[in-house]
Amino acid sequence: MAKGITKRSDDYAQWYIDVVLKSEMADYSPVKGCMVIRPNGYGVWENIQRNLDRMFKETGHVNAYFPMFIPESFMKKEAEHVEGFAPECAVVTHAGGKLLEEPLYIRPTSETIIWSTYKNWISSYRDLPLLINQWANVCRWEMRTRLFLRTTEFLWQEGHTAHATFEDAEEEAFRMVHVYKKFAEQYLAMPVIAGKKTDQEKFAGALHTYCIEAMMQDGKALQAGTSHHLGQNFAKAFDVQFQDANKTMQYVYGTSWGVSTRLIGAMIMLHSDDNGLVIPPRLAPLPVVLVPIWRSDEEMALVLGRARELTRDWDPLLYKIDDRDQYKPGYKFNEWEVRGVPIRIEIGPRDCQNNQVVVVRRDTGEKTPVPMDGLRAKLDVMLDDIQTNLYRTAEKRMKDNTRDCDAYEDYKANVGNGGFYRIHWCGDAACEKRLQEDTRSTIRCIPFDAPEEAGACMLCGRPSKCRVVAAQAY
Ligand SMILES: [Zn+2]
Repeated sequence: MAKGITKRSDDYAQWYIDVVLKSEMADYSPVKGCMVIRPNGYGVWENIQRNLDRMFKETGHVNAYFPMFIPESFMKKEAEHVEGFAPECAVVTHAGGKLLEEPLYIRPTSETIIWSTYKNWISSYRDLPLLINQWANVCRWEMRTRLFLRTTEFLWQEGHTAHATFEDAEEEAFRMVHVYKKFAEQYLAMPVIAGKKTDQEKFAGALHTYCIEAMMQDGKALQAGTSHHLGQNFAKAFDVQFQDANKTMQYVYGTSWGVSTRLIGAMIMLHSDDNGLVIPPRLAPLPVVLVPIWRSDEEMALVLGRARELTRDWDPLLYKIDDRDQYKPGYKFNEWEVRGVPIRIEIGPRDCQNNQVVVVRRDTGEKTPVPMDGLRAKLDVMLDDIQTNLYRTAEKRMKDNTRDCDAYEDYKANVGNGGFYRIHWCGDAACEKRLQEDTRSTIRCIPFDAPEEAGACMLCGRPSKCRVVAAQAY
């Protein structure tokens, strides 16, 4: 229990909570199930937002903001949607000291409020497509919560688009799940499987749902993002029609897609170790920390002077010099390690004499003496290398823990140990339900790249055309 962090091998769930709290990513709140996102965690969220937002804009989307209160009658307009979400909604019944005439739902997601507004914005095919994203908080009253992974209130983005045809909406839903895949791989250093959810696992009110699924260090799956083709369901519920080029009235096709602060939980679970948090450099609020080492006032003046001189032309957002006088270097090393800073630079009096520093990588712990000349360029190379190394490590883990499985007895005996299982499934919801009840695992997705392969359903033996991915999940 060095540093107050439980070892992964002792208790993976406790290790995760310890890392979140000790690295000051988040804290508990007075309301059960909610969380306080601390600056180290919010800094990661800001980097997620900044980079994803650019990717959304590059694919033609703009941002808007809709209210967090939704009239009860709106929620009830799409039958599957209300059935799926009502049990976990918080509802405001009183305001201004009075009982409200109509209760207001705190948004669990914004399809209903947005489609009621789109009715006023869409009348002609010339108004389409409408490609809007919103950054917001949402509220889902969860019974079992876990910091970042499942909280009552969380932050997310939700894209809501409207299209003239089924094909256009399909293209959009497909495009956006691939934007998420690219973001997960390039920024979170998180390999994912992209695919389609089964009908039982799809979004309440969607025709179908696409998703990205990642594997955590314990082999469990984590759904990291979803993109839904809504068909005309919400357009019909809210009477959103447009006049097409032939002057015929048509219902609009829709999509919605989202990722949330859950991504931060995924990042923590995927990369961190027994010494604390590991943040991929491209999302790190603080990529580099310099820790000067001194014993006397004279040495302090020397090393701090050199550290400041060395970093004079660096981007202020790249680094920080830890010049705190009240802590010993060992304490500082430990603190920055727990907080997941990708690179630590140590600089002592002897280093100054030799015109070098010692560079320590957070991912491998490797220490390398590096000349002060040319240090700045070396850091870029090393940050890239850490990013790549984290991805490759996660990729190898996923590959090593994914296997074909054809015998249900084999599956039942092993699925609890983690890992992804590529199984044949007939497509029947009854078999899927049985799998879930027997093993507390689920079909995570039907991968887009699953090759055609004739087989027999692992549960009932009926024919199957390809393998799906099943696992226990967060
Ligand atoms: Zn079956």
